[in-house]
Amino acid sequence: MTKADTQLTKFTQRSEDTPEEAYWHLSPSVLMEFLAGPIEEHIADIQIRTPVRERETRLHLMQPVRGALPPAMVKAWEAYIEAGKRQTVAWKAYIEEYQGQTKCWNTYIKAKRAAESKIAALHDIECPGCPWDGNTIFPY
Ligand SMILES: [Zn+2]
Repeated sequence: MTKADTQLTKFTQRSEDTPEEAYWHLSPSVLMEFLAGPIEEHIADIQIRTPVRERETRLHLMQPVRGALPPAMVKAWEAYIEAGKRQTVAWKAYIEEYQGQTKCWNTYIKAKRAAESKIAALHDIECPGCPWDGNTIFPY
């Protein structure tokens, strides 16, 4: 068991009003934060990406918040997380709709190309004297 493991498992008793992702000193310049993701990944990140001289202090001071956090702040955090989940669902739906629309567009382009001569013939009837040259109405 590493020093960090000891620190993180030392306090198993938390206030029931405090989310388990609440930690002191996850980042060197933030007093308290909610951790997004597993603590093991955060520890590994510190052990790999932070300057060696900072690691021991960071792993020593990083610890779960045990006392009760202000309910309004916890509620706001939880609302933020829920909004993020809804955004993910909406984003996936958006991507699906976007792909569906792209498919429809490709089908439309194919059908339009197949109808080119019929469209041109209809244009000749409905737009007599038109300067359209196949590319523009301004053929200079
Ligand atoms: Zn025309």
